[in-house]
Amino acid sequence: MESFIDQVTSKVRAEGGRMTAQRRLILDALEDLRGHPTAEEIFDHVRNADPDINLSTVYRTLRWLEENGFVSPRWFEDEKRRERFDPVDRPHAITEHFHFRCRVCNRIIEFDEPLIHELRRKYAADTGAEIESVSFTLYGVCALCKKDTPEQP
Ligand SMILES: [Zn+2]
Ligand SMILES: [Zn+2]
Repeated sequence: MESFIDQVTSKVRAEGGRMTAQRRLILDALEDLRGHPTAEEIFDHVRNADPDINLSTVYRTLRWLEENGFVSPRWFEDEKRRERFDPVDRPHAITEHFHFRCRVCNRIIEFDEPLIHELRRKYAADTGAEIESVSFTLYGVCALCKKDTPEQP
């Protein structure tokens, strides 16, 4: 199967457009960043490689990708209106995973944890229920933000 970037490149060319270096960086960021990045997170990521890129380019590219079915916006229930973006064919999305959300930087860190799968099995076995999906999020301050925040006396 064609990679995400190849698929998008074909579409851009079919429309007579060009795969610019900035678009390419945004696509790379979408592939690299785990955890349902926001436009701002994508922007922060690509800015390292190209300080001239601006947030509106990121937004415009994301909207184009969305209109063409390459990314889907997603809102987490407890975040109100913060929009996040997932590549539609993200192989990763098929696997069940769990989230940690940092209240300081708002980053979502994805993880897998056998204990949660075990809990699911146990609950089903104990109650006879059929579990269809699991949503599990831990909230707190991530290790990076914790380092930046002085300890409370
Ligand atoms: Zn996730
Ligand atoms: Zn953080």
